[in-house]
Amino acid sequence: MIYRWNGNIRIIDIKASIGKGDRSGDYIEQLRLYAWLWWETHDHTEDVEGLEVWYLGTGTVKVIRKPTESELKGYEKELKELYQKLRAGDPSEADCPTNPAPLRIFEEGGKAADPPTDPDPNARCIRCDYRGLCENVERDLDLPLERRIERFGHAWPITPFAEIVSRVDAVGNVGLLRGPEFDEKGVITFRFDLKEGYDKAVVKPNYGKNPTNISRAIANGARVRVKNAIPGIWRGNIELLLDEESEVIITDDEDEAPIVEIVTQVNVVGRVWSIDAIPNGVDVKRWSVTLLDQSGVCSVVAFRGSIPITAASVERGDEVAILNGTIGEFGGRAQVKLSPSSKVVHLRANDELPAF
Ligand code: SF4
Repeated sequence: MIYRWNGNIRIIDIKASIGKGDRSGDYIEQLRLYAWLWWETHDHTEDVEGLEVWYLGTGTVKVIRKPTESELKGYEKELKELYQKLRAGDPSEADCPTNPAPLRIFEEGGKAADPPTDPDPNARCIRCDYRGLCENVERDLDLPLERRIERFGHAWPITPFAEIVSRVDAVGNVGLLRGPEFDEKGVITFRFDLKEGYDKAVVKPNYGKNPTNISRAIANGARVRVKNAIPGIWRGNIELLLDEESEVIITDDEDEAPIVEIVTQVNVVGRVWSIDAIPNGVDVKRWSVTLLDQSGVCSVVAFRGSIPITAASVERGDEVAILNGTIGEFGGRAQVKLSPSSKVVHLRANDELPAF
């Protein structure tokens, strides 16, 4: 909210805290960014007169040095570059080195301490949410790496997360082709059956995705290879869902990638790293958790009728098995989707395992 008490522009950020700790350093940048936003959205003509943080916990005011004109121009360039970097694609591990920034120390009222940073270069790791995962911290979380578990009277093969194959190829003949059609926004719609002998898969765009690498020669009867599709099951049928990374190309009779070999079901075991969504009866209609095993990370999601009763008792840090899940992908990461026949089984409670 902006008040123009005296006709000049001062931006005040009111905090309920006392201003101690590393976060007070972020408030300085936050306020200076607000100053840039005001300048940027007022034709570079209106400059803010002052920036202040009011700490209600101490009843004190911290004055923030406002950016100079050259700093404002610098923000413009820096933020544009940052935006382009964020939009450029998924970062690799090499783009995310585990070199924590120095931990800043602020006293009450947001006053910088002397020295202003913790001398321990890894001080930030002590309270970091990711310390259980990060290679910079030696910590044994007793993560599972199962290959098989016994439950409900039989053995279930378990797939480590790194071995879940969430992209497949399939070859077959096109039937019941609808489209491809493009709307005015360039969004493609199409759907066809991919048939090979008695086997069939339905091929269509993944929800909200716009696969454009579709051969223009596609027609009923054409033999095609569907590449890099996300497999799924809907009402007993195999689906091959396409996105921008998928492709449909014309191929020949020699080419083979049997539909019957597509694996759509998977059993996994992992520790619950986070509970990402719990249905609340209002606007959240899914249950979703992120699991870890020794090989990697996997998200698990269930919608409405597929949410098992046992989900309600799953807590962060528990070790669980997801049995009879469907392989999927979300945000470039393997995902296991629950169906009404899936099971969530508690294996070990978080109080029997090292804390995250
Ligand atoms: S533990 Fe956290 S703060 Fe430390 S290096 Fe890893 S991600 Fe960064």
